[in-house]
Amino acid sequence: MQVDLSQVKLLSLMGVGARGLSGWRRVLSYVVHFSLNRYYLNLGWGNLPLERRAFLTFFSVGTGAALLGKTIYRGNAVDGTVDFEDMNASLREISESIKVMKSKAPSAPEFLEAFTSIGAVKESEREIILADSVGPSLHSYIAKMRNYESSHERDLYLSEDKHSVLFSTYKRIGRVQTLIGHGNFNVLGFDEMLKIGRRYSSVGTFTSLETDFIEGLFSANAKKYGFLGDKVTEKLTSTIKKSETKKIAQTGHFLFRGRSEKLYQKLKNDIGGSITLTSGIRSIVKQTHLFIAKTIQSEGNLSKASRSLAPPGHSYHGIGDFDVGKVGYGSKNFTEAFSSTDEFKKLVDLGYVSIRYPRNNMLGVRYEPWHVKVV
Ligand SMILES: [Zn+2]
Repeated sequence: MQVDLSQVKLLSLMGVGARGLSGWRRVLSYVVHFSLNRYYLNLGWGNLPLERRAFLTFFSVGTGAALLGKTIYRGNAVDGTVDFEDMNASLREISESIKVMKSKAPSAPEFLEAFTSIGAVKESEREIILADSVGPSLHSYIAKMRNYESSHERDLYLSEDKHSVLFSTYKRIGRVQTLIGHGNFNVLGFDEMLKIGRRYSSVGTFTSLETDFIEGLFSANAKKYGFLGDKVTEKLTSTIKKSETKKIAQTGHFLFRGRSEKLYQKLKNDIGGSITLTSGIRSIVKQTHLFIAKTIQSEGNLSKASRSLAPPGHSYHGIGDFDVGKVGYGSKNFTEAFSSTDEFKKLVDLGYVSIRYPRNNMLGVRYEPWHVKVV
């Protein structure tokens, strides 16, 4: 019988690979490997060409490695080689995959979450997919959005060791807001905020823990919270150009010149003086502050927070959307009660205004009748 080089290579790799196995698989691997090794050697060393002898030597070293197994591996690990870490990671990945495979099939929104996060599903396709998947899971999703203020089984929480930095960041950003005023705060950039902290003792320099926390919140995968909307601002340090904005009198808010401003003026002309801008452009800083406040309010429940406020980077307020409300209606403008006002009815009757988060939207966000879609 001829010894095939690819067989030798394969067996040699098997010997090395056995080190990554555990339990009976490892024992079996040793036994099979050792027996086959003996079999090939018995074919007659002397008759083999030099090249094959070299491979068989390497192959035998593989067997030795397999037999010594963990001892060799652990020995390497003591020196801090990355291999040991990598092996742990891959074993963990495997066990995670097994867990996923053994668990119940995910619900329609969870499928969407998974597929959207790897780019396999486009936003435009979501509704079509969900229309085909009406079932108990979809009903529970809708129930969750209706009861957005309750905590739900799969909600994701901020870890407790982050609570103190959550509070200190909230307070420090709050002091920036007090210093520069609500209007300017709406369009403040991240770097500018840090500069203000360094310059004014009433604010104080942002600690590295705080900036890391802000960065972490910004770069976190919001889909894990259950928020399925797109990330619309890519960089934490992105700024809003003053020249592209317009301050809307008596509101303390800004709108982007062009589409946003025109749409607002048009609907205001058509509806009349009883409707007003309640929130316009929000920079990353503003959205971060709101999201932190919401997280505190939700006692660290990030999923609950994201059901009623887009996580930093995911707010369309950063790129053109705005909120409207009834003059004198106060905070009720940000509740479903707004949908029973004459102002809302008129808004719908206009026919040219769309709502970003309609009832039963599939973006993981509660019904927001006040939020006008522009982009
Ligand atoms: Zn809004």
